[in-house]
Amino acid sequence: MACAIHCARHFGKGSVILVEKQSRPGRKLLAAGNGRCNISNEDLSLSHYHGEAALYTSVLERFPLEKALDFFQSLGLVLRADEAGRLYPYSNRGSSVFGRLQAELERLQVELLLDHPVSAIQKQKNGFRLISETDTILAQYVVLCCGSKACPSLGADDSVLTLLKPFSIRYSPFFPSLSPIMTLEKHKMLKGVRAAGKVWVTADGKALPAKEGEIQFTETGLSGICVFEISRLVHEYLTFGTVRGKEIHSLKVTADVVPDMSFQQLNEYLKSCRKLFCYEPADRLFSGLLPEKLSEYIAAGCKVQQRSCGELGDGTIKKMASQAKTMSFTPIPFEAFSQAQVCAGGLGSDEVDPRTLMLRKIPGLFACGELLNVDGDCGGYNLHFAFGSASIPVKFMK
Ligand SMILES: Cc1cc2nc3c(=O)[nH]c(=O)nc-3n(C[C@H](O)[C@H](O)[C@H](O)COP(=O)(O)OP(=O)(O)OC[C@H]3O[C@@H](n4cnc5c(N)ncnc54)[C@H](O)[C@@H]3O)c2cc1C
Repeated sequence: MACAIHCARHFGKGSVILVEKQSRPGRKLLAAGNGRCNISNEDLSLSHYHGEAALYTSVLERFPLEKALDFFQSLGLVLRADEAGRLYPYSNRGSSVFGRLQAELERLQVELLLDHPVSAIQKQKNGFRLISETDTILAQYVVLCCGSKACPSLGADDSVLTLLKPFSIRYSPFFPSLSPIMTLEKHKMLKGVRAAGKVWVTADGKALPAKEGEIQFTETGLSGICVFEISRLVHEYLTFGTVRGKEIHSLKVTADVVPDMSFQQLNEYLKSCRKLFCYEPADRLFSGLLPEKLSEYIAAGCKVQQRSCGELGDGTIKKMASQAKTMSFTPIPFEAFSQAQVCAGGLGSDEVDPRTLMLRKIPGLFACGELLNVDGDCGGYNLHFAFGSASIPVKFMK
C-alpha cells in the first residue's frame, strides 16, 4: 500500500495497480501489535536488525525516523511513543493506519485488484506481464511486496518464490522469527505464569547475549517478547543446525528469573528466608520473590517439597538459587511459522541491489518488505523496514 502511494504520487493519478491475492490488503498491518500497530521506534539502531546488513543499512540510511514521520504526516496520521520509544498511531489502532493508507490510495486513484493471486510474471521487451487466474496485467515496472510465510492464518505464504523460479533467483529459505519456543521440558504447573527475567541461548556451551523482559511460561514452552527475540537463533538451529551461520551441535535456552540479584546475593537472601519461613513448607522459600507457582516449581525440581524451609541445608539452598538463576530448557521443533510474527530469510543482496532494491538480473522488477532477507526485533522494526523499503523503488523508475 505504501509503495503504491509513493509510485502514484510520482507518476500521477491512475498510474498504479495494486494486485492483492486476498480479499483485502494489509491484514498483517491490522493484526500488528495486537491491533495497536507498533509502526516504528524512536531508536532505530542497526543492532535491532538481522539478516543482510547491506540491505537494512541502505534502507535505514535513506528512511530514518524523520522520513517515516514525514510520510505518516503526509497521510494525516499522528503517532505517539510509549515509555520504551515504541511508536503507535495516536488512536492506538492499526485501523487508523490502514484507513489513512486506504484514503490516500483512493485519492491517487490506485486501482485495487483484490482476490488476484499472481501466478506468473513474464518479462517483456518494455515491461512485464503479470498473470493471474482471471486476467493478465501489463506493467512497465513491478514491485514485489509479498511478505513472507509467517502467520499463514493471515493468508501468508511463500508463493512469490514460485513466481521467481523461471528467473533462477536464489534466496535464503524462510525460517520463523519472533515466535514462542517449544521445549522438551513440559511444565504444566507453570502454565500462565509470568516473571520478569532474562533469557539467553547457549550454543555449544557458549552463552549468547541475553534479552530481558517478561518471560511467559506456557503449557508447551516459553513465550513473551524477550523469548521472541531469541527465537530467531533457536529456529535457525532447529532448521539448519547452525547459529549465525556456524554449525552447532547443541543448543539450550536458559532463563534467569531473579536477574536483579547475583547468585551470591540470592543465596544469602534465601538463607535469610530459611530462618524467617522456618516452619513453612520448602516450596514457599521463593514466595517473597517470585510468583507462587514458580516457587513451587523450583522446589519440585530440587525435590524438597516434603521438607520445611528450616530443614534445608546450605547445599540445597545453593541448588535452589542456581535453579532460579539458570532454568534450562531444550528447544524442540514445531510448526512455528503459524505462531511467528516474521520470517528471517528471503531475497539477499546477491540478487537485489541494496541501493535500488531492483533485482539485478531483471531490470524493472523490484522487491521490498519482508520478502527481503531482513528481519527486525520486536518494537516496530519490521513495519519500519517495510515502509522504508517501500519508499525506495520509485526513485529508480524513470
Ligand atoms: C501477528 C503479527 C503481529 C505483528 N506485529 C508487528 C508490530 O507490532 N510491529 C512491527 O513492526 N511488525 C509487526 N509484525 C510484522 C509486520 O506485520 C510485517 O513485517 C509486515 O507486515 C511486512 O510487510 P510486507 O508488506 O512486506 O508484507 P505483508 O504485510 O505480509 O503483505 C504482503 C501482501 O502480499 C500479498 N501477496 C502475497 N503473495 C501474493 C501473490 N502471489 N499475489 C498477490 N498478492 C500476494 C499478501 O496477501 C499480503 O497482503 C507483525 C506480524 C504479525 C503476523
